Amino acid sequence: MIIVLKKDLDEEVKQRIMAELYQKGCVVREINGTGQSAIVAIGRGDLDSKAVAAMDGVAEVVPLTGKFKLVGRQWHPHNSEVKVGPITIGGQRIVLIAGPCAIESLDQAMTIAREVKRYGAVLFRGGAFKPRTSPYSFQGLEEEGLKILAQVRQETGLPVVTEITSVSQADLMDRYVDMVQVGARNMQNFELLKTVGRLGKPVLLKRGLASTIEEWLMSAEYILSEGNDQVVLCERGIRTYEPYTRNTLDLSAIPVLRNLTHLPIVVDPSHATGIREKVAPMARAAIAAGADGLMVEVHHDPDKALSDGPQSLYPQQFGQLARDIYVIAPVVGKQLDYDYIEKAGRQKHPTTGSAAMAAHLGHPGSFSHLATIQYLGSDAQMISKTSFRAIFDAVENDEVQYGVIPLENSLTGSIHENYDLLLEYNLSIVGELYLRIIHHLISVPGTRLEDIRQVWSSEAAIQQCRAFLDQQPHWQINTVHATASAVRQLNDLPTRGNAAIGSREAAQYYGMQVIAESIETNPRNFTRFGIIGKQPLTGRPKKKSSVVFSTKNQPGALFDVMKIFADSQINLVKLESRPIHGQPWQYMFYADIEADIQMPSIKEPMARLKEKTEFLKVLGSY
Ligand code: PEP
Ligand code: MN
Repeated sequence: MIIVLKKDLDEEVKQRIMAELYQKGCVVREINGTGQSAIVAIGRGDLDSKAVAAMDGVAEVVPLTGKFKLVGRQWHPHNSEVKVGPITIGGQRIVLIAGPCAIESLDQAMTIAREVKRYGAVLFRGGAFKPRTSPYSFQGLEEEGLKILAQVRQETGLPVVTEITSVSQADLMDRYVDMVQVGARNMQNFELLKTVGRLGKPVLLKRGLASTIEEWLMSAEYILSEGNDQVVLCERGIRTYEPYTRNTLDLSAIPVLRNLTHLPIVVDPSHATGIREKVAPMARAAIAAGADGLMVEVHHDPDKALSDGPQSLYPQQFGQLARDIYVIAPVVGKQLDYDYIEKAGRQKHPTTGSAAMAAHLGHPGSFSHLATIQYLGSDAQMISKTSFRAIFDAVENDEVQYGVIPLENSLTGSIHENYDLLLEYNLSIVGELYLRIIHHLISVPGTRLEDIRQVWSSEAAIQQCRAFLDQQPHWQINTVHATASAVRQLNDLPTRGNAAIGSREAAQYYGMQVIAESIETNPRNFTRFGIIGKQPLTGRPKKKSSVVFSTKNQPGALFDVMKIFADSQINLVKLESRPIHGQPWQYMFYADIEADIQMPSIKEPMARLKEKTEFLKVLGSY
């Protein structure tokens, strides 16, 4: 049952209620973040709801219906996030877990770990206790393998995940690894589930070879009922009559699970297919279907692998897959972040040590807010500002380390104000991110499309939804400065029949309902955001640089500059001119190039650029 507590209840009374329920043999959880204070209690026997309702401090008792008490969404409507070291699984950043099937030696593990990290993996996998079909196959290095995993973490910074095959390994797991995997063959080993439930480490729970989704979720329920809600589900293919693949990847499990549970979902395309060339297509499909991450077997010398060589990708193939996922992720509202680990380490505030602070435009649920979460993670402390200039000021005055600003939209072009501010302030672009802009028509719960009389949103959003709005000529359209403010104010409007255009996240955040989905005219609607700061976020070589320059007023001046890029084989990805303030009909050129300006090979073309321009400023490399 869900026990709704009276408003402004003393912490002490709440603790007393929880203790009493616990003594009655209940599994007890506090519900946070829903705006109301509540407790969920599940009795293994009969729990008298009338008696609970009569307890001091209890406002209401709501029965917990459905089978999946703790993994279900009734008491936990929002998606869970599971933390493994600095990595969050279930957020908006795709998590790539990669490594060999089995740890074979320190050299093998380290070689593969370095490679997969380079290509974007954020968690390293490798079996030390291998559940093999044949007793004569390699069984794993056992504790020696765990020690190697710990060394890999030490050296690469990648948290490590490995399979636990017996209750007796719990202490070893506790000592050496960051996340434990319950393998397909052990999905219904209930003693093992209880053990990992008490271990206090995040758990990767694979689906059994022939298990239904219900059985799988019940296994997760075992782990949560022991007090561990850090559980990630891993679909790895099920046994069917089809012999062309090792198993049949059940991609439909992803949307089914999404509906039933708040737990994160990752997909293992390696065991699902058993064949190297089938891994990448299924991995791409899994991300498109909404998976939070992938677990992929990678080996630098798969022909000599002691386990699962035929399904292991070569490191370069894993790299290519990561590039594909990088492109697909924004389409489904997520990001693949190549610098995840390094950023997580650097994001701390230099003096206070707390999470990074970032400023963005608009209220929570605005697209700038979403971009900030996707770039810096939901841990970052976010401050909302009402103008772009205020964001630049906040970074310049060290109020925050980073600012997140839109630079251009795929349909409407550059956000010129920000280009001008980049020129004016002495800050750098330290990162970029592409966010897909999906607009929804949002209203207070219970409103129907035919009830709508007035619509509120930002100028840009209204423009981008023109075709949809034109179908409703009697609607009155009102402009406000940001989409999230439009959604936020719906509750405060005195009349009924109001709607806003904004993000799904804004609807959720302000307790609103989406009444028409994806109403933007062109679905290829992406905004490119820049992250501005004083310090670069990572020490890695950068892919891109932005520069601004003006040329002499003479024939061929711009051509001379372009020739420098051409001669040096530097790819120019954007060139735009902007009027210079106070100097009518004079222009600055803003250019993005695919090069890291700090690299020695760029020194010479940069020197030539300086010569050929009247003004030159590097806006940043990222
Ligand atoms: C593994 O991940 O190496 C493994 C043995 O997987 P599964 O339990 O899915 O077969
Ligand atoms: Mn394997």
